[in-house]
Amino acid sequence: MSKTILVTGGAGYIGSHTCIKLLDAGFQVLVLDNYSNSSPEATRRVQQIAGKTVAAIRGDINDAPLLDSIFSSNDIHAVIHFAGLKAVGESVAQPLRYYHNNVSGTVVLCDAMQRAGVKNLVFSSSATVYGDPASLPINEAFPTSATNPYGRSKLMIEELLGDLHVSDPDWNIALLRYFNPVGAHPSGLIGEDPADIPNNLMPYIAQVAVGRRERLNVFGGDYPTHDGTGVRDYIHVMDLADGHVRALEWLNSQAGIRAFNLGTGIGYSVLDMLKAFEKACGKTLDYVISDRRPGDVASCYADPQRAASELDWSARLGLEAMCADAWRWQERNPQGYK
Ligand code: NAD
Ligand code: UDP
Repeated sequence: MSKTILVTGGAGYIGSHTCIKLLDAGFQVLVLDNYSNSSPEATRRVQQIAGKTVAAIRGDINDAPLLDSIFSSNDIHAVIHFAGLKAVGESVAQPLRYYHNNVSGTVVLCDAMQRAGVKNLVFSSSATVYGDPASLPINEAFPTSATNPYGRSKLMIEELLGDLHVSDPDWNIALLRYFNPVGAHPSGLIGEDPADIPNNLMPYIAQVAVGRRERLNVFGGDYPTHDGTGVRDYIHVMDLADGHVRALEWLNSQAGIRAFNLGTGIGYSVLDMLKAFEKACGKTLDYVISDRRPGDVASCYADPQRAASELDWSARLGLEAMCADAWRWQERNPQGYK
């Protein structure tokens, strides 16, 4: 019988794409999501794309009795833990909400896993744990730090998972530090669907292209980069999704806790991304250079060697596919899942 993976936050952007890769790899998928930042429609479309069924439960990772009933009535092999709030600005305004949802939620989840004897975990961490890196590219041995409550919640979770592994070495934990996920499934059926004005660059550009926003504000034109705008390591969400399947395989073969960068190793500027998107959608997109966004670093890109050698994973899809797929999703679903 195929193994069942519990996917918290599985209706969200990265979670929904990962569900497809899991189904393709022969896993059974059980989604737990409170839909605070997503729609059940995403899971319906995942089933349509994969031609397989996905069990979905509406609920919160902070609900211990619900988790106990999920673990007792399903034979869960591992948990991929995406559920979390992710808006940096909001986390500064509402730190307790972020610590409760992200940190307490993870404690409640791990507690239930321990009670059930399920000790395989893949956790969604972030490149934000590297703070302002002293040099580039960034490898996993770089020092970690946080500049806002969102980032601190990721760091706190990484550390509490480390403590958990010390207390009980039977835990197998992959900490996946994502760089900048973009793009969508090539079908155009699922993609990123921000509830409010997008904080992130790519969904903002896509909404300008589809006519929902007037112009892009480029946050800073005087960074020490090739064109003055911020440089990031954008990674196609389907490649990222694949990394989770590889991490599950790694959990089966290794014991321990280990962090992995999931990035391409290539940095593109804001203007590089805008130009590539213009090419994909065939339109000229309006933009204005505005002030730097507080807390932003000039450049950030991964050294992805560890994931290549230990997970046998590396990103395959380039900038053209990232933009073409993001545009297909946005053009066919101008209002997202609504
Ligand atoms: P998303 O908001 O689309 O997905 C998160 C999902 O978790 C949503 O469906 C939301 O409804 C659900 N959720 C939130 N709190 C919950 C709770 N308490 N109980 C149950 N469900 C809950 O975000 P995403 O972009 O898919 O990100 C997934 C994970 O990856 C998050 O933990 C995020 O912090 C992390 N991450 C994202 C990025 C990025 O740029 N998208 C980068 C690095 C790390
Ligand atoms: N950015 C921008 N305008 C926007 C959103 C983002 O110029 O409306 C820039 C931002 O300053 C950064 C890059 O785009 O240099 C990526 O930002 P994003 O928020 O997507 O990711 P992160 O800051 O988490 O790397």
